[in-house]
Amino acid sequence: MDGNVLALAGGVGGAKLVLGLARTLPPDQLTIVVNTGDDECFHGLHVSPDLDTVMYTLAGLSNPETGWGLAQETFHALEMLRRYRAETWFSLGDMDLATHIRRTQLLREGRSLSEVTAELASCLGIAEQLVPMTDQPVRTVLETDAGDLPMQQYFVKHGSQPQVRSIRYEGAEHALPSPSFARALNRASMVVFCPSNPFLSLGPILAIPGVRESLAAVPNKVAVSPIIGGAALRGPAAKIMAELGYPASCAGVARQYQGICDYFLLEPRDEGLAPEIEELGMTPLVAPIIMQSDDDKIALANYVLSLPELA
Ligand code: GDP
Ligand code: CA
Repeated sequence: MDGNVLALAGGVGGAKLVLGLARTLPPDQLTIVVNTGDDECFHGLHVSPDLDTVMYTLAGLSNPETGWGLAQETFHALEMLRRYRAETWFSLGDMDLATHIRRTQLLREGRSLSEVTAELASCLGIAEQLVPMTDQPVRTVLETDAGDLPMQQYFVKHGSQPQVRSIRYEGAEHALPSPSFARALNRASMVVFCPSNPFLSLGPILAIPGVRESLAAVPNKVAVSPIIGGAALRGPAAKIMAELGYPASCAGVARQYQGICDYFLLEPRDEGLAPEIEELGMTPLVAPIIMQSDDDKIALANYVLSLPELA
């Protein structure tokens, strides 16, 4: 695959395929755009959970057990915060806190989230372009039977238990794609929708005005389903889809990408849903989309990148 690849990602699921793409493509041919609808202020610090998951993954620093956070992390600062009766339901390790301290400091000095992310990523040896979806604040809020909950409160504090009635992306209507995202939208010869939560991770990116229209004009758009056999490998994606009235299946995911996606990769056990996906105007492709090892991630990335040549 020649040209510029634009990957859209959330956190843990997205980071897996992002790693495969980064190991396959020259760094200057990959722009990774990450959801910031989960960003939150904890202890006065700007935390960008999805950006950090992807950044730690690309830097080879992520915790292999969880997929988020850092390997060999300790939690002494959080323990002390607990003694001070601070709210500590969001797990923040000692090394992780350094990321948030530095990010917050640079933001306060007036730099944009794009600039700060580039600075942090370069310090960790990341050569790919890792960029936030926007430099403006966007907040994913779930309207639930327990009230309106920002994403991290729903997901971490409430353990994804409340029933979801609808989702809104606060601020998205005034947000602009970040400068690198806008450039990639203009130049990309391929777009990869990583296997991320379609409502909580890729939904906020697609809610930025103009993004869907720009994507429609890019050739070779490939999505990898995060839903397999009617369930998420991890996390609340299937639960939320069902509560919002969508089929909790890979076809339900495909519906979110109707009109902006050409190929849709599904797992062999979902083969029966291929006709439904075809009806949405995408080419369904059955592929091994469960990524356990780094080799799995690289193999899937190679397959995804080979698709335009098959066409
Ligand atoms: P989060 O922001 O950390 O919740 O991460 P994402 O939104 O990027 O990813 C969550 C989704 O990743 C879940 O719906 C999982 O089912 C999906 N996922 C995790 N691992 C894999 C995998 O190996 N293959 C596929 N296809 N999906 C995966
Ligand atoms: Ca996330």
